[in-house]
Amino acid sequence: MAVARTPLIAGNWKMNLDHLQSIAFVQKLAWSLRDAKHDYGQVEVAVFPPFTDLRSVQTLVTADKLELRYGGQDLSVHDSGAYTGETSGAFLAALDCRYVIIGHSERRQYHAETDQVVADKTVAALRHGLVPVICVGETADDLEQHGPSAVPVAQLRVVLEALASDADIVVAYEPVWAIGSGQAATPEQAQQVCSALRQSLDEALGDEAAQRTRILYGGSVKAANIAGFMAHKDVDGALVGGASLDVDEFSSIARFP
Ligand code: PGA
Repeated sequence: MAVARTPLIAGNWKMNLDHLQSIAFVQKLAWSLRDAKHDYGQVEVAVFPPFTDLRSVQTLVTADKLELRYGGQDLSVHDSGAYTGETSGAFLAALDCRYVIIGHSERRQYHAETDQVVADKTVAALRHGLVPVICVGETADDLEQHGPSAVPVAQLRVVLEALASDADIVVAYEPVWAIGSGQAATPEQAQQVCSALRQSLDEALGDEAAQRTRILYGGSVKAANIAGFMAHKDVDGALVGGASLDVDEFSSIARFP
């Protein structure tokens, strides 16, 4: 049975914009979307600022009653305790974060996050009522050796093993070779892998979960190429890095329809 999935356009700021810049950015973004009469029920929009910005973003979103969503870029597998430098999902939930990105390729690469760590963090996010945005994707070498879907599907399967069928998650397919390279996957490539990921959701969690769960594409998404991705049935939105730091560009991406 086909289920309508609300597209999600998510901006991953990475380590950019301090808390003062985040306030100016979110204000401008909200104005831009308001001027365009953006319907957040039609296309959900979320930003993922650095941890130090989240309180400022929360204050602004609450004060101005914005429909914009926001979340953290990572979280700890632990809930509290002697874990210097870690951030608990409980703290993100206390700041009204809706989402948290987990297993971004930069975390996997620079912080040696394994599929098991990504699974544990996903469970931690769900424990605190956060919706994990689980990132998977192959490197250029993986693509050459194993083809397009094998590595992202294997990465996702490890996470799905830890989940119940009613888990509220988002999956982001981000080919590592496309991130920050200006060389996006083609919409057809994105569709092929997103379809394989949906198949894995079906096998692990059942048809209802597979139909309801949003799968995003990420990797050099911009206003000029978003429509091509969104035209495909298994692509339910985008995780946007570089282009999410430009208000006009990100606002245009959110207004793809
Ligand atoms: P990019 O990054 O849009 O700059 O390629 C995407 C991401 O890393 O999430």
